[in-house]
Amino acid sequence: MDYSVARRRMVEQQIAARGIVDQRVLEVMATVPRHIFVEVGLQGHAYGDASLPIGKKQTISQPYMVAAMTAALELQGGERVLEIGTGSGYQTAVLSKLVKRVYSIERIAVLAGRARKILDQLQLSNINIKIGDGTIGWVDQAPFAGILVAAGSPDVPAKYLDQLDVGGKLVMPVGDQEQQILMRITRHKDGRFEREQLMGCRFVPLIGEQGWQSESLV
Ligand code: SAH
Repeated sequence: MDYSVARRRMVEQQIAARGIVDQRVLEVMATVPRHIFVEVGLQGHAYGDASLPIGKKQTISQPYMVAAMTAALELQGGERVLEIGTGSGYQTAVLSKLVKRVYSIERIAVLAGRARKILDQLQLSNINIKIGDGTIGWVDQAPFAGILVAAGSPDVPAKYLDQLDVGGKLVMPVGDQEQQILMRITRHKDGRFEREQLMGCRFVPLIGEQGWQSESLV
């Protein structure tokens, strides 16, 4: 099955039409094969305007959200970025084509393993994946020019601010377990952290030392 037409349509109708103008992001999303990051039975839905289940109660983010978060990092190429919540590995693949190196942390080992396999198949060789609690960041590799967090947290973990390079941007959903606001935090030269609210969103919870203790029982 050739999904290239569906992929182009996804970029035009869901992403460019909603105001994403970063050409590099649009081009990469028109090439990364999103369908191979979902289970075979869902491949026909991979280019639809929605998130999809990937097992273990987790989801692959909606294409527009992947594009919006990636564009919000304002990447030029050459950066080292930290991603929290590898999940399917799709967002990791998109980032890997836009920067020098991606460091990605996933707490669920089977998801990390599956993502690693697909990313290897695609011969994306500039990705380090670690299994563990991403709420504490990746101290050995810091600082990062960009940090993208694909799970929602009640607050911004302080370690992310510590691990953000001067001029770097952190994009993450902040709120309760039902809904969040996508925040962008920029670390300026004078030491100031600028906070912007980009849009409402709904992500699975960031679970760990600096996030939620567990998934809500409600
Ligand atoms: N970008 C991924 C989104 C996956 S959903 C994709 O598009 O496929 C969010 C992921 O964050 C889940 O896989 C979840 O297991 C992971 N996660 C939640 N808390 C985490 C933590 N503290 N550290 C690392 N990963 C975490």
